[in-house]
Amino acid sequence: MTDQYQAFAQSPIGKLLIKNLGLPSPQSLDRFESSQPVVQGEVLLGAAAGSTLSGAIAQVLHNIHANSYAGNNAELQQAAAKVGLSLRAFNSGDKESKFKALVFDASGIENSEQLNELYNFFNPVARQVRASGRVIVVGISPESAKTVKQAVAQRALEGFVRSVGKEFKKGITAQLIYVDQGAEDNLESTLRFVLSPRSAYVSGQVIRVSKADVVSVDWTKPLAGKTAVVTGASRGIGEAIAHVLARDGAHVICLDVPQQQADLDRVASQIGGSTLALDITAPDAGEKIKAAAAAQGGLDVIVHNAGITRDKTLANMKPELWDLVININLSAAERVNDYLLENDGLNANGRIICVSSISGIAGNLGQTNYAASKAGVVGLVKFTAPILKNGITINAVAPGFIETQMTAAIPFAIREAGRRMNSMSQGGQPVDVAETIALFAAPSSSGLNGNVVRVCGQSLIGA
Ligand code: NAD
Repeated sequence: MTDQYQAFAQSPIGKLLIKNLGLPSPQSLDRFESSQPVVQGEVLLGAAAGSTLSGAIAQVLHNIHANSYAGNNAELQQAAAKVGLSLRAFNSGDKESKFKALVFDASGIENSEQLNELYNFFNPVARQVRASGRVIVVGISPESAKTVKQAVAQRALEGFVRSVGKEFKKGITAQLIYVDQGAEDNLESTLRFVLSPRSAYVSGQVIRVSKADVVSVDWTKPLAGKTAVVTGASRGIGEAIAHVLARDGAHVICLDVPQQQADLDRVASQIGGSTLALDITAPDAGEKIKAAAAAQGGLDVIVHNAGITRDKTLANMKPELWDLVININLSAAERVNDYLLENDGLNANGRIICVSSISGIAGNLGQTNYAASKAGVVGLVKFTAPILKNGITINAVAPGFIETQMTAAIPFAIREAGRRMNSMSQGGQPVDVAETIALFAAPSSSGLNGNVVRVCGQSLIGA
């Protein structure tokens, strides 16, 4: 769908009017294109005294050939030198330099007094971040802190990051990565994602990295040799997911209801994938998915994207609308997962990725059925993650306002509010959801399990 306001806002007259009237000014966001470097511009690295993750962060910056800078910080210089990252000198009085990313290792912060290290690093450069820039804070999971004071200080990072996401504008995103004890070598896929334009519409998020086997990949084709099933793949977000997973090297089996066969064929032929016409509420859906993937060497990734809305206030809702939404959005995914997990239907290191919604986090008028189903998806991820074996993981994305046929059906005034009420002042694109799903799908994301990442431009609705 086109966003006419955004197009107008980028015209000379639009810019003038928007500035004078104080209206939201949506930035055209950088988005990933193949063969681009992970970060297009300079990265400024900082660290609190006594931090333990600088080596792992420097290693990633080294791997992606980032043009990296740091202030006068001997500990940090040492950690970088150890992994062969050369840091150019930056003097915080220099107001001319601009950065595409600011990355701060906050793992050394042990109590609330030391939170001023955040202030000391970010305050002098707060106006020096380029459009579509990145602010990234890396801390330790409060649960793995050694003292209550340390846990409190690490938890405080969330409020800082979420506020930066709301303040910096110009399409700049802010994220917090919590790293569990011993999980520093699992950081790479997440750090690459949040640094790159793949995370264009993800902001104000907390991603938890846990300790797991480290899996190396070809970063240009992380899904090479893998087979993925995407439900609801004939259009909208599902179509974008199919394209992105295929771009990353997967063979994608595009699944949708039989009535969508023509569109399914179109998507599958564009990406060299195959099709599976199936209603996911069918009792044998799990079996059919397993059988379709068997011909491709078994299933590595399943994306539960198919979903519907049937909005009515609770007082006006017919029971069949309630049942239909819960069944398609939640129960079907549960049944398919159960079948695959109980019947060896998912290869070792398999990936289950669900699609929730910010409605499931915040609730929404007219969506008791939909919000219940999508909150249930959050529960499905949270309570399944700890019981998975064989390196299998489960995670979810929770999209906010994404420009698709689903949101095109929303009445104009509500649609316009949904589009603007976020830190990016615009709706997201289906590809933004797909890129986040690709992060979870990658074999290198073995340390991501039980995460729910919102793809909502830091919507004001919800947590
Ligand atoms: P869409 O309506 O454009 O596409 C959904 C697809 O799912 C359709 O192709 C449909 O045929 C398929 N589908 C529906 N029921 C099915 C069934 N029983 N079996 C197999 N396939 C079935 O929707 P979309 O906007 O692309 O949304 C995709 C997912 O993202 C949904 O789960 C939705 O709830 C979620 N979501 C979307 C937004 C948004 O802004 N568009 C926001 C939050 C969450």
